Parts: sequence; C-alpha cells; structure tokens
Amino acid sequence: MKYQSTRGKVSQLTFKQAVMMGLASDGGLLLPESIPDVSQCLPEFKNLTYAQLAYEVMSLYITDIEESELKAIINKSYATFSHPDIVPLRTIGDINILELFHGPTLAFKDVALQFLGNVFEHILKESGSRVNILGATSGDTGSAAIAGVRGKDNIDVYIMFPEGKTSPLQELQMTSVLDANVHNIGINGSFDDCQSLLKTIFSDLEFKDSYQLAAVNSVNWARVLAQVVYYFSAYNQLGQPKKFDVCVPTGNFGNVLAGYIAKQMGLPIARLIIATNSNDILARFFRTGIYERGDVNFTHSPAMDIQVASNFERYLFYKLDQNAEKLTEFMKKFSETGRAELRFNSERFDRDFVAASVSNEETIQTVKKYYETFNYLVDPHTAVGISVAEKVIDADVPLVCLSTAHPAKFNDVMAQALPGVEVTHPSLEVLKGRETRKIVMDADIEAIKSLIKETQ
Ligand SMILES: *Cc1c(COP(=O)(O)O)cnc(C)c1O
Repeated sequence: MKYQSTRGKVSQLTFKQAVMMGLASDGGLLLPESIPDVSQCLPEFKNLTYAQLAYEVMSLYITDIEESELKAIINKSYATFSHPDIVPLRTIGDINILELFHGPTLAFKDVALQFLGNVFEHILKESGSRVNILGATSGDTGSAAIAGVRGKDNIDVYIMFPEGKTSPLQELQMTSVLDANVHNIGINGSFDDCQSLLKTIFSDLEFKDSYQLAAVNSVNWARVLAQVVYYFSAYNQLGQPKKFDVCVPTGNFGNVLAGYIAKQMGLPIARLIIATNSNDILARFFRTGIYERGDVNFTHSPAMDIQVASNFERYLFYKLDQNAEKLTEFMKKFSETGRAELRFNSERFDRDFVAASVSNEETIQTVKKYYETFNYLVDPHTAVGISVAEKVIDADVPLVCLSTAHPAKFNDVMAQALPGVEVTHPSLEVLKGRETRKIVMDADIEAIKSLIKETQ
C-alpha cells in the first residue's frame, strides 16, 4: 500500500515514510491510495481477539513491516490496557457504550498513541536514526504521547502545555513521568501560544531536519489507522448486526474519520453521528455545507474545544472525488477568508453523517441522568455523545456511542454534576504526591530550540 497527500504533491510513500512525515510536506494530509473492501471477510473476523483483529485490519495498510514484527508491535501496544477486551462494549439503557479508556492514561488517545510509540521505536531501530517528538497539548494528547514513548531508545519527547491552565490531574499525568527522554514544558501563555510555537518551530525546515523533529498530533495516519480497528471490534461485540449507528464525541475529527474509513471498507455502519459541544463548526457544516470558522468557546468537554478540525481535510478529499486541485482550492479559500462551501445536489448532502451540538447544561444533565438511572459514570465528553445519541436514536438499529475518557480524569466537572459522589481511578490516585519534573518557560521560540539542542 502506498500513500499520497490530499494536496497532490506527495505520492508513492510507504507506510513507514508516511508515519515519519506526519503532516505531508506539501501541507496536506496523507491517505492510502485506495481503501480495501473487507465486507466478505467480516464473518471470519467475528471471533478474533482485539490484537488479531488489529492485525487483520492494519496489515492491509502496512505492507512494509514484516508479519511477525507487526504482530509483535500490536501485541505490545495493547498489553498495556487494563481490560481483557481492550475496548469493552457495555449496554446501558438503550445505548451501547464502547469504553475506549482502559489504556495507561485513561483516554481513547492511548489506543492510537501506544501503537504509534511502538511503530516509531521499530522504525528507528531498523534505520539506526533518532527523533525528537515535539507536541503541544491542552491535556489528553500530551500524557498519552508521553505514555507512548517513555523510556524508549532513540526518542526524546518535548510536550508544551499552558502553565497553570491544564487540570491538576492532567498535569500530574505528564510531569510525574521521570524518564530521561521525557521533557515537560510549562509555557507561560495559552494553549494557542503553545500551538503557534509548535507551528513556527515545525516551519523552520532547517531546524526540523537537523533535529529530526516528528509530530504525534492526530494528523498522523498511524493514529487514524489504529482507531479504525475499534469500529470493527464494536461490530463484533454487538454480534455482527445487519447495520449499526455510531455516535462519536468529536473535536479534531480524527476519531470519526476512522469510522468513515471503516465504513468505506465495508463495515455496515448506517450513520456516523458527530456530537460536538458548543464549538459547532462541524455540526453547522453537516447541516448547510458551509465550513465557517467561529470563536473557540471553553466548555465542560475541553478536549473538544476546537474550531478548525485538522482531520476534516481527509474527509473533504473523498467528498471532492479525490481531486487534489479542488481540495487545495477549498482549503486556500478557507484559510484566507475563514469560510468555504461544499456544493451538493441532494436535499441532505451527506447521508453518511448526522451532526448536532450540545450545551454545557445538557452535558451536566446527561452525567446526572446516567448516574441516577443506571448507576453508570460517564465523563463529560462521552456525555456530549450520549446527549446527541439519545436525540437521534433509531429504535430498529443498534447504536454504539464511543466513550473517550474515564470520568475520573475530569473530576472537576463530575463534582459539579454529582456533588458528593466520589469519582476516582486507582491509576490516578497513585500519582498524587509523586515526585514531578517540568521546565517552565516563556513563549519564546529561541529558548525552546535551545532546550532541544542542549538535551540531545
Ligand atoms: C481528543 C479527545 C476527543 C476528540 O477526539 P477527536 O479525534 O479530536 O475528534 C474527545 N474526547 C476526549 C476525552 C479526547 O481526549
């Protein structure tokens, strides 16, 4: 399988090259040249373990890592999960909840970043090179990226977060990791400052090349691919129904894009339901075809406080008939004017998707309802998904809602919704009082570059 860019100026990459490149060098996103149809193989997938299923799905897209090596990478990646089913499906009322939070940092990002860390390790060992991973985080991505590469040879990881602005628990999940290859950087500034530092450093191509900078954000194809697998697992755990709906709490569109790939592979997903908080650029797009930037609101589901979803470009590429020129034009118009429109013929323009947004108040009410009615604790991101799922559920089609984090990660919102209810997780409790390490710096490009130079 070869990879190409949505912008048309990069092609013929192998999987390993695509992983190391991250964002395509022409500014686009990398996609496989074709999507294999596995609809005939679904019955054979039925009784596979999660790791076996992951191998069947991923090996279609990874043709440059040997079978035994790829199996070893997959096994190692999911051995760190605390549940034997890796992503167990629970039926709560009318909704099936796919719990994606049993990895080391209790968020669904572990499913992809445990795998990506091991893929990096494999590639670097083989090529004898090393990388410096640089990332910016408002919370979940940073700790999952650190957990994916801590202690690994030939990799250093530098994670920038806004000093004092991530939740104390999320900060602790990062700064309590004392491995020598982990560098936590508290930036005096906002998350936007961290992201703009990241962009500026990556755009200095000379620095990027001489220090082998690599990215772990959700545009990396290996992350999307790892996420495709659990849609198949949900289907198996439901008993392989004729069709099913999936509801996805959405921010950067990485998670739901993986579902869209699974659907194109022949998995019988009827509708992909996009649930957003009040940052509703996607919900507006799927109603109108108009993609228009708004201001970022801060909500109870902070990992979804995103206006411009980086993975959306991959979806657009398919909608624009894989025409790189049209896609480039759309993205150019959007970046220049903050607005672009996709024209469509039918009355509702994309039958594969449904989208809706949820207020903070509804989020809190859903957390309360699921605790009071079912004695089940849902985190605020999952609650956004469930709120939308309840509104659009079709009685004849089973519905799976993805649960993206363990509620104990967001204990402040949980306390607001459920005063007096203890919401904890042992792997967070053990971190309290641990020794921590971080560097606090101003939002200064040169200072960060110096830090990278000095710690080689
Ligand atoms: C990252 C994250 C999301 C958003 O996922 P995308 O792939 O960016 O759409 C939702 N919930 C939680 C808890 C997250 O950490």
